[in-house]
Amino acid sequence: MIHYTDHISQLIRDIVLRVPALSFIQPADVLVFARLGRTGADGPYATCHSLNLPPSEPGYYFWRDRESGRLTRRSEWFVTKSPSVSIAGHEIKYLLSFTLPRFCDQSLLRSYKREFYHDSEPWVAKLDTIVHELYHIDPEEPGIRRVTRADGEYSARMHSPGFFQEVVQMVHQYLASGPDPAVYEFLRDDFRQLEARYGGVVGTTFRTFPSYPQRYVEPLSPQPAVPGEAEEVALERLRVRPARTRYTEADLRLRRFTAQAARPLRGRFTPVRHEHQAA
Ligand SMILES: [Zn+2]
Repeated sequence: MIHYTDHISQLIRDIVLRVPALSFIQPADVLVFARLGRTGADGPYATCHSLNLPPSEPGYYFWRDRESGRLTRRSEWFVTKSPSVSIAGHEIKYLLSFTLPRFCDQSLLRSYKREFYHDSEPWVAKLDTIVHELYHIDPEEPGIRRVTRADGEYSARMHSPGFFQEVVQMVHQYLASGPDPAVYEFLRDDFRQLEARYGGVVGTTFRTFPSYPQRYVEPLSPQPAVPGEAEEVALERLRVRPARTRYTEADLRLRRFTAQAARPLRGRFTPVRHEHQAA
Protein backbone atom coordinates (compact mmCIF):
# COMPACT_ATOMS: atom_id res chain seq x y z
CA MET A 1 0.00 0.00 0.00
CA ILE A 2 1.10 3.57 -0.55
CA HIS A 3 1.59 5.90 2.43
CA TYR A 4 0.05 8.89 0.75
CA THR A 5 0.57 11.61 3.38
CA ASP A 6 4.19 10.51 3.72
CA HIS A 7 4.63 11.01 -0.02
CA ILE A 8 3.17 14.50 0.31
CA SER A 9 5.61 15.25 3.17
CA GLN A 10 8.57 14.11 1.05
CA LEU A 11 7.37 16.24 -1.82
CA ILE A 12 7.05 19.26 0.50
CA ARG A 13 10.68 18.77 1.58
CA ASP A 14 11.70 18.93 -2.07
CA ILE A 15 9.47 21.93 -2.88
CA VAL A 16 10.91 24.10 -0.09
CA LEU A 17 14.42 23.33 -1.33
CA ARG A 18 13.60 24.36 -4.88
CA VAL A 19 11.17 27.26 -4.54
CA PRO A 20 12.95 30.26 -2.97
CA ALA A 21 9.74 31.97 -1.84
CA LEU A 22 8.96 28.90 0.32
CA SER A 23 12.50 28.24 1.54
CA PHE A 24 11.75 29.76 4.96
CA ILE A 25 9.51 26.76 5.76
CA GLN A 26 11.08 24.14 8.01
CA PRO A 27 9.55 20.82 6.96
CA ALA A 28 9.84 19.54 10.53
CA ASP A 29 7.44 22.30 11.62
CA VAL A 30 4.72 20.96 9.30
CA LEU A 31 2.70 17.81 9.91
CA VAL A 32 0.68 16.38 7.04
CA PHE A 33 -2.41 14.35 7.88
CA ALA A 34 -5.40 12.96 6.03
CA ARG A 35 -9.11 13.61 6.44
CA LEU A 36 -11.92 11.80 4.71
CA GLY A 37 -13.49 13.66 1.80
CA ARG A 38 -15.46 11.92 -0.89
CA THR A 39 -14.80 12.60 -4.52
CA GLY A 40 -17.58 14.69 -5.99
CA ALA A 41 -18.79 15.95 -2.60
CA ASP A 42 -18.37 19.62 -1.71
CA GLY A 43 -15.45 20.54 0.47
CA PRO A 44 -11.80 21.47 0.38
CA TYR A 45 -8.99 19.43 -1.13
CA ALA A 46 -6.64 20.56 1.60
CA THR A 47 -6.43 23.00 4.52
CA CYS A 48 -3.62 24.78 6.34
CA HIS A 49 -4.16 24.94 10.11
CA SER A 50 -1.81 27.05 12.23
CA LEU A 51 -0.95 25.94 15.76
CA ASN A 52 1.44 28.75 16.61
CA LEU A 53 -0.97 31.62 17.28
CA PRO A 54 -0.82 32.93 20.84
CA PRO A 55 -3.92 32.72 23.08
CA SER A 56 -6.60 35.25 22.18
CA GLU A 57 -7.32 38.33 24.27
CA PRO A 58 -9.80 37.50 27.05
CA GLY A 59 -13.39 38.13 26.07
CA TYR A 60 -17.00 37.15 26.72
CA TYR A 61 -20.24 36.85 24.81
CA PHE A 62 -22.98 39.27 25.78
CA TRP A 63 -26.63 40.02 25.15
CA ARG A 64 -28.29 43.44 25.26
CA ASP A 65 -31.85 44.48 25.86
CA ARG A 66 -33.16 45.58 22.48
CA GLU A 67 -35.03 48.62 23.82
CA SER A 68 -32.65 50.04 26.37
CA GLY A 69 -29.41 48.70 24.94
CA ARG A 70 -28.52 47.62 28.47
CA LEU A 71 -26.34 44.56 29.02
CA THR A 72 -28.63 41.84 30.40
CA ARG A 73 -26.61 38.68 30.17
CA ARG A 74 -23.03 37.70 29.50
CA SER A 75 -20.91 34.59 29.43
CA GLU A 76 -17.91 33.84 31.57
CA TRP A 77 -14.62 35.32 30.43
CA PHE A 78 -12.66 33.02 28.17
CA VAL A 79 -9.64 32.81 25.91
CA THR A 80 -9.11 30.61 22.86
CA LYS A 81 -5.89 28.65 22.61
CA SER A 82 -4.11 26.45 20.12
CA PRO A 83 -3.41 22.88 21.18
CA SER A 84 0.17 21.72 21.20
CA VAL A 85 1.25 18.98 18.82
CA SER A 86 4.76 17.70 19.31
CA ILE A 87 6.36 14.92 17.32
CA ALA A 88 9.47 13.32 18.82
CA GLY A 89 9.81 16.35 21.07
CA HIS A 90 9.57 18.87 18.22
CA GLU A 91 6.73 21.38 18.37
CA ILE A 92 4.63 21.41 15.20
CA LYS A 93 3.63 24.88 13.96
CA TYR A 94 1.33 23.99 11.07
CA LEU A 95 -0.92 21.08 10.22
CA LEU A 96 -1.71 20.50 6.57
CA SER A 97 -4.72 18.27 6.02
CA PHE A 98 -5.54 16.58 2.73
CA THR A 99 -8.93 15.05 2.06
CA LEU A 100 -8.78 11.57 0.61
CA PRO A 101 -9.88 10.32 -1.83
CA ARG A 102 -11.04 13.76 -3.10
CA PHE A 103 -7.54 15.23 -3.33
CA CYS A 104 -6.25 12.23 -5.33
CA ASP A 105 -9.07 12.67 -7.86
CA GLN A 106 -8.45 16.34 -8.47
CA SER A 107 -7.73 17.17 -12.12
CA LEU A 108 -7.17 20.31 -14.14
CA LEU A 109 -9.81 19.05 -16.54
CA ARG A 110 -12.57 19.72 -14.01
CA SER A 111 -11.12 22.77 -12.33
CA TYR A 112 -11.12 26.55 -12.49
CA LYS A 113 -7.35 26.15 -12.36
CA ARG A 114 -7.35 25.07 -15.99
CA GLU A 115 -7.15 28.69 -17.14
CA PHE A 116 -3.85 29.10 -15.25
CA TYR A 117 -2.24 25.97 -16.65
CA HIS A 118 -2.67 25.80 -20.41
CA ASP A 119 0.10 23.37 -21.23
CA SER A 120 0.19 21.32 -18.02
CA GLU A 121 -0.90 17.75 -17.40
CA PRO A 122 -4.12 17.24 -15.41
CA TRP A 123 -2.40 16.04 -12.20
CA VAL A 124 -0.61 19.41 -11.81
CA ALA A 125 -3.84 20.59 -10.13
CA LYS A 126 -2.70 18.55 -7.10
CA LEU A 127 0.76 20.09 -7.05
CA ASP A 128 -0.97 23.48 -7.21
CA THR A 129 -2.99 22.59 -4.09
CA ILE A 130 0.12 21.55 -2.15
CA VAL A 131 1.99 24.75 -3.05
CA HIS A 132 -1.16 26.77 -2.29
CA GLU A 133 -1.35 25.38 1.25
CA LEU A 134 2.38 25.98 1.82
CA TYR A 135 1.93 29.55 0.61
CA HIS A 136 -0.61 30.10 3.42
CA ILE A 137 2.23 29.76 5.94
CA ASP A 138 3.20 33.23 7.05
CA PRO A 139 6.93 33.93 6.74
CA GLU A 140 6.84 36.84 9.17
CA GLU A 141 4.60 36.05 12.07
CA PRO A 142 2.69 33.12 13.52
CA GLY A 143 -0.52 32.10 11.80
CA ILE A 144 -1.82 32.21 8.27
CA ARG A 145 -0.40 34.66 5.72
CA ARG A 146 -2.57 37.74 5.52
CA VAL A 147 -3.40 39.16 2.15
CA THR A 148 -4.37 42.67 1.19
CA ARG A 149 -8.04 42.81 0.33
CA ALA A 150 -9.50 45.05 -2.35
CA ASP A 151 -10.39 47.64 0.32
CA GLY A 152 -6.78 47.82 1.51
CA GLU A 153 -7.44 45.95 4.77
CA TYR A 154 -5.44 42.88 5.67
CA SER A 155 -7.25 39.61 5.96
CA ALA A 156 -6.31 36.07 6.84
CA ARG A 157 -8.18 33.17 5.23
CA MET A 158 -8.62 35.09 2.02
CA HIS A 159 -7.03 34.90 -1.37
CA SER A 160 -6.11 37.90 -3.42
CA PRO A 161 -6.06 37.44 -7.20
CA GLY A 162 -2.27 37.66 -6.87
CA PHE A 163 -2.23 34.70 -4.48
CA PHE A 164 -3.40 32.24 -7.17
CA GLN A 165 -1.00 33.66 -9.76
CA GLU A 166 1.95 33.44 -7.41
CA VAL A 167 1.11 29.81 -6.67
CA VAL A 168 1.07 29.09 -10.41
CA GLN A 169 4.49 30.68 -10.79
CA MET A 170 5.88 28.63 -7.92
CA VAL A 171 4.48 25.42 -9.41
CA HIS A 172 6.19 26.18 -12.73
CA GLN A 173 9.37 27.15 -10.93
CA TYR A 174 9.39 23.85 -9.06
CA LEU A 175 8.81 21.74 -12.19
CA ALA A 176 11.44 23.69 -14.14
CA SER A 177 14.04 23.14 -11.42
CA GLY A 178 14.62 19.52 -12.46
CA PRO A 179 13.15 17.58 -9.52
CA ASP A 180 13.45 13.80 -9.47
CA PRO A 181 10.14 12.59 -11.00
CA ALA A 182 9.99 9.83 -8.36
CA VAL A 183 9.27 12.56 -5.79
CA TYR A 184 6.07 13.87 -7.45
CA GLU A 185 4.90 11.16 -9.81
CA PHE A 186 2.54 9.64 -7.24
CA LEU A 187 0.34 12.64 -8.05
CA ARG A 188 -0.27 11.30 -11.56
CA ASP A 189 -2.58 8.53 -10.34
CA ASP A 190 -6.17 9.10 -9.34
CA PHE A 191 -7.57 7.16 -6.40
CA ARG A 192 -8.61 4.09 -8.37
CA GLN A 193 -5.25 3.93 -10.10
CA LEU A 194 -3.46 4.21 -6.75
CA GLU A 195 -5.50 1.34 -5.31
CA ALA A 196 -4.80 -0.78 -8.36
CA ARG A 197 -1.09 0.01 -8.40
CA TYR A 198 -0.35 -0.26 -4.66
CA GLY A 199 -3.15 -2.39 -3.27
CA GLY A 200 -4.40 0.40 -1.05
CA VAL A 201 -4.01 3.99 0.11
CA VAL A 202 -2.91 4.75 3.67
CA GLY A 203 -2.60 8.08 5.42
CA THR A 204 -1.63 9.52 8.80
CA THR A 205 -4.63 10.56 10.89
CA PHE A 206 -5.21 11.47 14.51
CA ARG A 207 -6.46 8.81 16.88
CA THR A 208 -9.42 11.10 17.55
CA PHE A 209 -10.45 10.75 13.86
CA PRO A 210 -12.42 12.37 12.31
CA SER A 211 -11.51 15.07 14.83
CA TYR A 212 -8.04 16.64 14.87
CA PRO A 213 -6.29 19.29 16.97
CA GLN A 214 -8.20 22.55 16.80
CA ARG A 215 -8.30 25.77 18.78
CA TYR A 216 -10.27 25.41 21.97
CA VAL A 217 -12.07 27.64 24.45
CA GLU A 218 -10.80 27.92 28.01
CA PRO A 219 -12.74 29.84 30.71
CA LEU A 220 -10.50 32.22 32.68
CA SER A 221 -9.78 31.22 36.23
CA PRO A 222 -10.21 33.21 38.35
CA GLN A 223 -12.95 35.17 36.58
CA PRO A 224 -12.17 38.90 36.52
CA ALA A 225 -14.89 41.41 37.34
CA VAL A 226 -16.34 43.61 34.63
CA PRO A 227 -15.85 47.23 35.77
CA GLY A 228 -19.15 48.99 36.41
CA GLU A 229 -21.26 45.90 35.73
CA ALA A 230 -24.79 46.09 37.13
CA GLU A 231 -25.78 43.34 39.53
CA GLU A 232 -28.77 42.21 37.50
CA VAL A 233 -26.60 41.02 34.62
CA ALA A 234 -27.17 37.29 34.36
CA LEU A 235 -24.04 35.21 34.14
CA GLU A 236 -24.01 32.33 31.73
CA ARG A 237 -21.59 29.47 32.19
CA LEU A 238 -19.69 28.48 29.08
CA ARG A 239 -20.61 25.06 27.88
CA VAL A 240 -17.22 23.90 26.71
CA ARG A 241 -16.48 20.34 25.94
CA PRO A 242 -13.27 19.18 27.54
CA ALA A 243 -10.66 19.65 24.84
CA ARG A 244 -7.46 17.82 24.26
CA THR A 245 -4.69 20.34 24.66
CA ARG A 246 -1.60 18.24 23.93
CA TYR A 247 -0.93 15.71 21.20
CA THR A 248 2.16 13.67 20.43
CA GLU A 249 3.18 10.98 17.96
CA ALA A 250 1.29 8.53 20.18
CA ASP A 251 -1.92 10.23 18.98
CA LEU A 252 -1.25 9.47 15.32
CA ARG A 253 -2.83 6.48 13.61
CA LEU A 254 -2.45 5.11 10.12
CA ARG A 255 -5.77 4.63 8.40
CA ARG A 256 -6.59 2.98 5.14
CA PHE A 257 -8.79 5.13 2.95
CA THR A 258 -11.38 3.81 0.55
CA ALA A 259 -13.85 5.68 -1.63
CA GLN A 260 -16.28 5.91 1.31
CA ALA A 261 -14.45 5.40 4.60
CA ALA A 262 -11.20 5.35 6.55
CA ARG A 263 -10.41 2.47 8.86
CA PRO A 264 -7.53 1.98 11.28
CA LEU A 265 -4.81 -0.17 9.85
CA ARG A 266 -4.20 -3.41 11.72
CA GLY A 267 -1.10 -5.51 11.62
CA ARG A 268 2.22 -4.69 10.08
CA PHE A 269 2.42 -2.05 7.43
CA THR A 270 5.21 -1.95 4.88
CA PRO A 271 4.84 1.09 2.67
CA VAL A 272 5.53 0.73 -1.03
CA ARG A 273 7.65 3.58 -2.30
CA HIS A 274 6.65 5.06 -5.58
CA GLU A 275 9.24 4.24 -8.19
CA HIS A 276 9.80 6.25 -11.29
CA GLN A 277 8.34 4.58 -14.34
CA ALA A 278 10.05 5.69 -17.50
CA ALA A 279 7.24 6.52 -19.91
ZN1 LIG B 1 -6.25 28.80 0.47
